[in-house]
Amino acid sequence: MRITRRVVAADAEFVPDAEFVPDAEFVPAVDPRPSPSAKVAPIPPGGTIGILGGGQLGRMLGFAARSMGYRIVVMDPDPACPAAAIADRVVVGAYNDAAAALELARGADVVTYELEHVDAALIDAVEATGVPVRPGAYALRMTQDRLSERRFVASLGIATAPWRDVTDEAGLRAAAADLGTPLRLKAPIGGYDGRSQVRIGAPDEIPGALERLGRPPGTPLLVERELDFAAELSVITARALDGRQAAFPVARNRHDAGILVESVAPAPIPDVVANAARALGTRITQALGAVGVVTAELFLLRDGTLAVNELAPRVHNSGHWTIEGARTSQFEQHVRATCGLPLGDPAARGPTAMVNLLGTGEPRDARMEGAGAALADPLTHLHVYDKRTVFERRKMGHLTVVGAPDVETALARGRAALAKLRWR
Ligand code: ADP
Ligand code: MG
Repeated sequence: MRITRRVVAADAEFVPDAEFVPDAEFVPAVDPRPSPSAKVAPIPPGGTIGILGGGQLGRMLGFAARSMGYRIVVMDPDPACPAAAIADRVVVGAYNDAAAALELARGADVVTYELEHVDAALIDAVEATGVPVRPGAYALRMTQDRLSERRFVASLGIATAPWRDVTDEAGLRAAAADLGTPLRLKAPIGGYDGRSQVRIGAPDEIPGALERLGRPPGTPLLVERELDFAAELSVITARALDGRQAAFPVARNRHDAGILVESVAPAPIPDVVANAARALGTRITQALGAVGVVTAELFLLRDGTLAVNELAPRVHNSGHWTIEGARTSQFEQHVRATCGLPLGDPAARGPTAMVNLLGTGEPRDARMEGAGAALADPLTHLHVYDKRTVFERRKMGHLTVVGAPDVETALARGRAALAKLRWR
């Protein structure tokens, strides 16, 4: 019961507790508050979707929404953000600017978010005006802080890497003694693409690790064992307003220093593993009470079991393959769910590979070369996010290959096409 209260309380004011013991028996309820959006009728085409965040995810969400006849308002600090090209209007504001969020809500029938680093208070402010926010405030709060996310996943009895929360070097030493090394020390809030984490290879790397992470002294941090996984997987699950769910085929992902570089789907893994991953994603999405898509990043361990790495209540880079590779893209699926429409068929059209196009070099105007050579392979599709400035490892676009006989061939063709692209 103690844990019940804590998990529910996490929605209101979450205070990390060093003594918290995850309880595998406990299954939390969906957000107990009545959803203000539960009885809302579908939003028909012609309605307006507000998107908090205007990066490439908002841009691709916008393409899908536009093709169904929806109008788009985007809130982003940068008026020239990637989603500006598809927005009817950009409200310029930081991700914690309540006035800007209310301005976004004023013109919208529903609001969604393309990143989980939005201040949850903004979501509450928008919902208070009667405009539904989907996937929802609860899903955002549970997943935007890695520590609350770990407690949430543990409360479902789902495995993660063994972890502790720590605030200082003594705590880190105790965790290392318990968990062993190597470890990953992660800031709970604000991390993406492998930023905001530090690897501790051996106990003698503990001194200075907190400083390397660079958070203010006393900040609660997550430290976990580095897992020797067989593969990284992800599963994207959609949940409609009526509670129906649909899971996309599982993707197998490869990261380079924390940044996604390639995905293939359906992942070449045994059916039993793929089904377990989809069941796990479905359970998580349901427990979050989400309306829209939710991504679960997973580790496939060498014994065939799965552990959750990270959750995102939004469309995800590892789902970009669905644009050409699935019968319904993750973006269309999210639009359908957020607008209260039935979900589409998530099945793959065939083996698909997606490779990310990352920036290189010093910050400068983004001018790409080699598109002609890359697209000489007719199975290849090019997506460029129209970011004005390119720099080392910035996500600038991606290539998708669909129509090859198997995912490894698709991946090889994707890599070959990628090798033709350059930033001037
Ligand atoms: P981000 O928010 O930056 O995506 P993640 O926690 O997902 O942060 O970490 C990024 C990547 O770093 C993962 O996809 C994985 O490749 C690697 N990684 C993170 N945690 C672990 C771990 N405990 N064991 C092994 N690899 C890890
Ligand atoms: Mg991640």
